[in-house]
Amino acid sequence: MFDKILIANRGEIALRVVRAAREMGIATVAVHSTADSDAMHVRMADESVCIGPPPSPQSYLSVPAIISACEITGAQAIHPGYGFLSENANFVQIVEDHDLTFIGPTAEHIRVMGDKITAKDTMKALGVPCVPGSDGGVPDLAEAKRVGAEIGYPVIIKATAGGGGKGMKVAKSDAEMERAFQTARAEGKANFGNDEVYIEKYLTTPRHIEIQVFGDGKGKAVHLGERDCSLQRRHQKVFEEAPGPSITPEERARIGKICADAMAQINYIGAGTIEFLYENGEFYFIEMNTRLQVEHPVTEGIFGVDLVREQIRVAAGLPMSFGQDDLKINGHAIEVRINAEKLPNFSPCPGRITQYHAPGGLGVRMDSALYDGYSIPPYYDSLIGKLIVHGRDRPEALARLNRALSELIVDGVDTTVPLFDALLQEPDILSGNYNIHWLEHWLESALAKP
Ligand code: ADP
Repeated sequence: MFDKILIANRGEIALRVVRAAREMGIATVAVHSTADSDAMHVRMADESVCIGPPPSPQSYLSVPAIISACEITGAQAIHPGYGFLSENANFVQIVEDHDLTFIGPTAEHIRVMGDKITAKDTMKALGVPCVPGSDGGVPDLAEAKRVGAEIGYPVIIKATAGGGGKGMKVAKSDAEMERAFQTARAEGKANFGNDEVYIEKYLTTPRHIEIQVFGDGKGKAVHLGERDCSLQRRHQKVFEEAPGPSITPEERARIGKICADAMAQINYIGAGTIEFLYENGEFYFIEMNTRLQVEHPVTEGIFGVDLVREQIRVAAGLPMSFGQDDLKINGHAIEVRINAEKLPNFSPCPGRITQYHAPGGLGVRMDSALYDGYSIPPYYDSLIGKLIVHGRDRPEALARLNRALSELIVDGVDTTVPLFDALLQEPDILSGNYNIHWLEHWLESALAKP
């Protein structure tokens, strides 16, 4: 096992990794930009290294600075968290070239799944059901129109290198194709340096269901059920729950086994998420994330496992501490993402926290790097906390969420808490009757009200 690991991230996820490492008796090194000198992850880790100025390309994304920090402190492995360098295959290669261990999948798996066209081809070959669409990349408008006519409108044009909801455009008819095709290409080029696009059938009322997988890198892999992350704004998740309110035990077992078998076949190592759209009882693969997800705590809640601890174990060459038969669902968990954003437009709202009080009690987990007097810097993501509740069943989890939200105090900045207070009044949320468009429609009608 490692003696010391470096965490190449900030905020709540850096704390999350510190906590797992400390319980395992492993020392931690935090890295930080000059904007984060007073950040909680710096205070909680055993050591810290300043790696550059505030903009992330010069700090949290600076590969030479992070490798140097490992060498100075003697850290043997790097946990990347999510975002930043977590899905950067070149970084993983460099880490390995320096005889350090990357706590995550291989560079090769990251590369394959990071290109959505290659990912889809790979998953199809492994027996995973996919959304009908073009056979690989679509080189020009004429071919795009041919594919549109063949699979039928509406379709979605996606940048193969896309992520975070960027590089995706819907075309409802042949007439809309030119604009959608060119925009998706331009966004792919501008944001990811790659203008290759592909086309999928646009599903009209699906749910976003993702399967948590975990592998030991030696041919053993399990699934940890699904999360329903359908409540999204601009393709960004805001509320996640497990198990999915619409998924039956039989469906879970079927799709879970397909995913675990696929991961076993490729010798996948560590945590991964296979994302699907789910409509009329069918699952359609859209992409795989080769990292820990923001919403992993809901899965930890219902299975009672520590996914970060498990990531560190397999990276150190130890076996997984559970097999498929050990994984039994207990109750229901919900996570809400608390962002420093001003409603109704969700505009980022950095600033100084004048008062912070985290909720507590049975079944309540608050993953946050906030503290009284902390100043949220304007340079990074607006996520400031994740409130996760666990109950014996969904109604209990909802009641607990309501109660926990009433205890939470975040003063000094605007947050998305009022959004969740309002959502918990909605019959569709209480009954679990929502799809990927529900939140956008609801926001539109809420905004239209005087
Ligand atoms: P990103 O990598 O940017 O997160 P994804 O491929 O994971 O992109 O898709 C993000 C979201 O976009 C999905 O959760 C869903 O809401 C929507 N989406 C993606 N593909 C389709 C599709 N074929 N039909 C309908 N909605 C889609």
